[in-house]
Amino acid sequence: MNIILFGPPGAGKGTQAKYLVKKLNGFQVSTGDMLRNEINNDTEIGKKIINDMNEGKFVSDEIVNSLIENVLFDQNKKNKLIFDGYPRSITQAKNLDLLMEKSRQTISFVFFLNVNKNTIIKRIEKRKILENRSDDDLNTILKRYDIYMETTKPVLEYYSKKPNFEEIDGTQEIDQITRKIDSFINL
Ligand code: AMP
Repeated sequence: MNIILFGPPGAGKGTQAKYLVKKLNGFQVSTGDMLRNEINNDTEIGKKIINDMNEGKFVSDEIVNSLIENVLFDQNKKNKLIFDGYPRSITQAKNLDLLMEKSRQTISFVFFLNVNKNTIIKRIEKRKILENRSDDDLNTILKRYDIYMETTKPVLEYYSKKPNFEEIDGTQEIDQITRKIDSFINL
């Protein structure tokens, strides 16, 4: 089963992704983590993206799509993918469709974790203390939220028309969200 977790930064995608990875013996596909790894390892890609990431801007589709491709064609991970933070633009969503078809896979569910700006600000401020992420200061958070809303709106429209799309109230407690997700995937 392949699942997409969709929603603004701080919606709880990472938390639910980790739960699903355990439950389904799956693999978390977090483009945010992949990009942070590139920066930490000081790779060519890392050097190109560090400024955009620190400013809360989107990294280019070209770079993100190239990182995703390897994961999709990894036989060990086939049909066990939990997407967290990808796709975030229409280009990425269409690229994912294409790669899924090429690798003979489908998306079983798209879960949209819907949260308001205030909840996100509170959560990210907490995460900043816990995880010490450099892109987690308040200005960056607000910028990331606005960019998200702007850029991912068409992606939301794209997925919300599909039968496997489920909207979940992301302001609920972690356990409640997990139970809701379970109620869909345990059908
Ligand atoms: P995240 O950990 O998903 O919140 O992502 C952190 C940052 O990584 C974002 O603010 C973007 O700068 C970058 N990023 C992560 N995923 C993507 C993506 N799919 N497309 C473009 N940029 C991304």
